Amino acid sequence: MIAFKTVKYHIERESALNSKLPHVGTSIFSTMTGLANQYQAINLSQGFPEFDAPERLKATLNQTVGQGMNQYSPSAGIAPLQQQIGALVERKYGLKIDAAQAVTVTSGATEALFVAISAIVQAGDEVIVFDPAYDSYEPAIHLAGGIAVPMALRAPHYAIDWPLLEQAVSDKTRAIIINTPHNPSARVLSKADIEALKGIVIKHDLLLISDEVYEHITFDGNTHHSVLGEKALFERAFVVSSFGKTFHCTGWKMGYCVAPPKLTAEFRKIHQYVTFSSFTPAQFAIADMLENEPEHIDELGAFYQRKRDLLVNALASSRFTCLPSEGTYFLLLDYRRLSDLSDVEFCEYLVKEVGVAAIPLSVFYHTPNDDKVIRLCFAKEDATLLSAAEKLCQL
Ligand code: PMP
Ligand code: GLN
Repeated sequence: MIAFKTVKYHIERESALNSKLPHVGTSIFSTMTGLANQYQAINLSQGFPEFDAPERLKATLNQTVGQGMNQYSPSAGIAPLQQQIGALVERKYGLKIDAAQAVTVTSGATEALFVAISAIVQAGDEVIVFDPAYDSYEPAIHLAGGIAVPMALRAPHYAIDWPLLEQAVSDKTRAIIINTPHNPSARVLSKADIEALKGIVIKHDLLLISDEVYEHITFDGNTHHSVLGEKALFERAFVVSSFGKTFHCTGWKMGYCVAPPKLTAEFRKIHQYVTFSSFTPAQFAIADMLENEPEHIDELGAFYQRKRDLLVNALASSRFTCLPSEGTYFLLLDYRRLSDLSDVEFCEYLVKEVGVAAIPLSVFYHTPNDDKVIRLCFAKEDATLLSAAEKLCQL
């Protein structure tokens, strides 16, 4: 069976190097993409678009490189991009910010999350995280000397029990990390969720890290309730987003963090020593897209909703149960009618025998989980989605 969490290589290194992350192995995303390549399976596991970035974005990047804009940018990002992000925040969420003081361009959302966590977590601090969650949060908390306190969300609704969450707050709790639209559950926090969160964060004087990388990808009229739209929450928050998701360019690793000036100052102290600055030509190209092709963002929800519907319809005659996908580019499938295997075993069977790679959800939990749910990514060409669905319908 696939060893997802700890590989021998790490155990050997641990004794020699006294590993700071002894229990961390290769990420599930690398593992499943590796297996998909090895078995030539259709890769619906790791979340990345199969289609290309917009023509204008690519052309502007090429031009910028050709014009010699190839040196370091200011550490916080080029001013035109900061301004465009500020304008987007105002257009989408009605929040006016001083972009020069509040926006920091980063090398992907992953860097922004790492830096935000490093900026606020001290030895012994607790940070509440949800299970399942994007896999970078916990190692970053651990490296900062903090303790991740997991709150499990369970299929099929993955709803947050706010009174239970409040019980998990202790005098050591420093922050909560939320993610909406949520990877991997594909659920979107409601206005009532944000209100409940606000009550707890303010009452217990906590900080907030809000991972909103799928902010522009919501379906069926579900609104994305950003922390940027709640002044009282934003005052104590780092809000993180990713251009990789928005402009189909995950390989560029471009993202940003919006935070009030005081928090931004701490964020930038660390950002300058993690990367100093991010890829300059991409900053110019993204600023141009935000200014001149705003419809790309406005059409993203409908673009992905059509793909979600294509996949859900193509799976209608299968024995899988599709769970609601309200946002992101992920769809969860319950496979209990097909198999008694654990989700890890089932994904191994799917990639080797059926030719479709998926992500098992249990690997994101601290406690044993047998919900029998797997995640598919539908940021793929229609033909790819239809071929995968055809294989899955045969089970
Ligand atoms: N947060 C979540 C919830 C994600 O799904 C991802 C990427 N898949 C990231 C953060 C990281 O984004 P980036 O690639 O910009 O680092
Ligand atoms: N976040 C992406 C996913 O959920 C993967 C990103 C990565 O591989 N680190 O699939």
